[in-house]
Amino acid sequence: MEWTEEAQAYLERVPSFVRSMAKRAVEKDVRSQGRNQVTAEDVARGHKKHIAFAEDKPEDQAKTRIAVVRCETVSEVCPGVACFKAFNKRHSHFKDYDDNTEIIGFFTCGGCPGRRVSRLVNSLKKHGLDAVHLSSCMLLEGDYPACPHVKEIKAMIESKGIKVVEGTHH
Ligand code: SF4
Repeated sequence: MEWTEEAQAYLERVPSFVRSMAKRAVEKDVRSQGRNQVTAEDVARGHKKHIAFAEDKPEDQAKTRIAVVRCETVSEVCPGVACFKAFNKRHSHFKDYDDNTEIIGFFTCGGCPGRRVSRLVNSLKKHGLDAVHLSSCMLLEGDYPACPHVKEIKAMIESKGIKVVEGTHH
């Protein structure tokens, strides 16, 4: 697929976290029209269709933005339903959030000793992250032991100026 210079320049202005997906989506749209060259107009259309929803509006600045980090090992058996239900119902460790709060990230730690956490928190900070919840699966003894690295993970997140809440659904 060919890209005109203008189309390429437009693509460079798309936020990096969605750029490669946006590129694929625009190329798919162009291909479906039987063409093999992407123009700036195609990118503008793709922007409106695939990217605009993810861009911050002025009113979004007032939102509280949170994320949940959970255990990589436990994630093999848990899709995270209880964490999301607890947030949606403002239950347990989410009870103090109002309707102006949104989850902007839900990620696994990347395996011991939480190798992915720092990188993803840095990435979420660019999107206005206010707090990270350590999932209940990291903190409780159950089918799996509690996380032995939780103190270091917590301290590392706090060192980035982000609040840490211990727990999600219980
Ligand atoms: S660092 Fe903790 S949360 Fe992550 S896989 Fe290891 S035990 Fe699980």
